[in-house]
Amino acid sequence: MKQAAYYHIEQIGGNGHDTAGGTLSARCDLCPHACLIGEGHAGRCRSRVFRDGKLWATSYAEPCALAVDPVEKKPLNHFHPGTLCLSVACTGCNLRCLNCQNSSISQARPEDVEHATWQPADLVGVCLQQHLPSIAYTYTEPLTWIEYMLDTARLAHEQGIYNILVSAGYVNEQPLRDLLPFLDAANIDLKSISDDVYHRLNGASLAPVQRTLRLIHEAGVALEVTNLLVDGWNTSEEMIRALCHWLVDNGMADVPLHLSRCFPSYRMPNLRPTPIPVMMRAKDIAEEEGIRWVHLGNV
Ligand code: SF4
Ligand code: SF4
Repeated sequence: MKQAAYYHIEQIGGNGHDTAGGTLSARCDLCPHACLIGEGHAGRCRSRVFRDGKLWATSYAEPCALAVDPVEKKPLNHFHPGTLCLSVACTGCNLRCLNCQNSSISQARPEDVEHATWQPADLVGVCLQQHLPSIAYTYTEPLTWIEYMLDTARLAHEQGIYNILVSAGYVNEQPLRDLLPFLDAANIDLKSISDDVYHRLNGASLAPVQRTLRLIHEAGVALEVTNLLVDGWNTSEEMIRALCHWLVDNGMADVPLHLSRCFPSYRMPNLRPTPIPVMMRAKDIAEEEGIRWVHLGNV
């Protein structure tokens, strides 16, 4: 646990000068949800808790998942292909995707999941020892445990190790700008080009993710984008075309696009796996729209 960054204290009720008759709460400034968190409670991502007048990053240095993965599994096909990375995750996510494939850790509180204690220096140390060139912050939503990611990423860079962010990109501008100097590569989900689908399927909104993509791309980070095709939700020709059109319009025609097949999971046990012909057609559409590198995933 570490005191969180990116919050301020608000007084609810009272006379505005002291706490008499009012209640102190923390307003989290990390992501667009802007949770107002009362004493003893957690924000929507479950990993930021207001206690004793401070907001705490409760999963700090307590990863629930550690693994060594090929970098292509992130997926990143154009960033040091053929190399391995240390994948690390703490619990927590600020989205609520009905089709989440990692819900047992993304939708859990830190105390509900088995975890180890690994300080940032431990993660960097194992990379040096095992000759792993990169650390990937992945599996859940790393931006909800940004303090751990930032501390690790700083140390990693000091030792010549690359940092990879795998994220849904739903974050405020300042925290992202603070992280950018330490990022070498990122795979960001663009879950659909419809704000309505973002609200109903993912519990978020589109515009902040578009801003994240622009900022990461402008910063020169090796960016790749994933669009998970969820049958009937974002698989219409019109929607795929519009998503690719937006990428091209925003200078991202050369950003590799991963079109990923979705399977039943979490709150969507009866979802039809995305039909292969839909995947193939989506690839054709993306190429027609001018995306240079289109990769199919989970097929
Ligand atoms: S990061 Fe978590 S606590 Fe902060 S605003 Fe977002 S969901 Fe709420
Ligand atoms: S953003 Fe990823 S980890 Fe979070 S709920 Fe959606 S699929 Fe799960």
